[in-house]
Amino acid sequence: MEDGAQAWELLRQPNTPDLLILDWMMPGLDGIELCRRIRERHQDRYQYILLVTGKDGKQNIVKGLEAGADDYLTKPFDLGELRARVWTGKRILSLQRELIRAREDLRFQATHDALTGVWSHGATLDLLGCELRRGFRTHASTGILMIDLDHFKNVNDTYGHLTGDAVLKEAVQRISRAVRSYDFVGRYGGEEFLAILSNCTLEDLRTVAERTRCAVAETAISTKVANVDVTVSIGGVVTSTGTDDLELLSAADSALYEAKQAGRNRVVIGSCEATQSEEALSATSGKK
Ligand code: GH3
Ligand code: MG
Ligand code: MG
Repeated sequence: MEDGAQAWELLRQPNTPDLLILDWMMPGLDGIELCRRIRERHQDRYQYILLVTGKDGKQNIVKGLEAGADDYLTKPFDLGELRARVWTGKRILSLQRELIRAREDLRFQATHDALTGVWSHGATLDLLGCELRRGFRTHASTGILMIDLDHFKNVNDTYGHLTGDAVLKEAVQRISRAVRSYDFVGRYGGEEFLAILSNCTLEDLRTVAERTRCAVAETAISTKVANVDVTVSIGGVVTSTGTDDLELLSAADSALYEAKQAGRNRVVIGSCEATQSEEALSATSGKK
């Protein structure tokens, strides 16, 4: 780069280099000011700065480091020393990349279920909360599907727990492929999953629920031990104005219960108000 201002322009573009060699003395914007601006940006990605200076007084070196440089080199410099200092920078950057990767792995592990790879219980509830708030702001309804594998205990009892795990994983794959690409799937409990469908009408909910049911039931799941037929029962609901997460989950749970009672391998669409009023009615009739 010819001068500091040009360098700054370049650094504001995407995909800039990780390792920068800046001259202290540059027309327009000097190396020190450039260092400060780079550090003020608080990017997720760290840029390693090697400051080249003709000023070798201790005070100037301190000034350079305080402005955000990681290392410095005084002119006239020896080529071997430059190479060695660039290598040091590369080593630090590669350590930093490893740390970022480890942090991302941890973040993934904290929010995802280890067996199936979908969102964990806690993360699913957080996503539901976010989705409901977003729906409230944008006046869009949100749908959820509570999906439970039918007679799954029999699968474990017949083929063993490991085959059960393999069946569970494949069933989740099928569920994830059946929902829309922007929907979320999370593990709500043992063999129970929650799909969160943003911007979802009742018609969308029916379509996705039925597609999900068919995707699991369509063909037997092949495992090392056997081909295992498996089906799911699904309870679905969409929000009406002001529905909160607990009301929605409880309504989906009731719809799922109905689907199980009605013989499994089926979808029951409930409604938040209807579920409440039905419950209220049955409670009243029970008292009579
Ligand atoms: P229903 O149709 O009423 O849902 O019957 P079900 O047998 O599926 O339901 P139940 O609640 O009786 O049993 C669920 C079974 O799911 C029991 C439990 O051991 C099994 N399960 C839960 N999580 C896992 C898992 O991670 N791996 C395996 N292999 N089994 C699991
Ligand atoms: Mg079950
Ligand atoms: Mg269950």
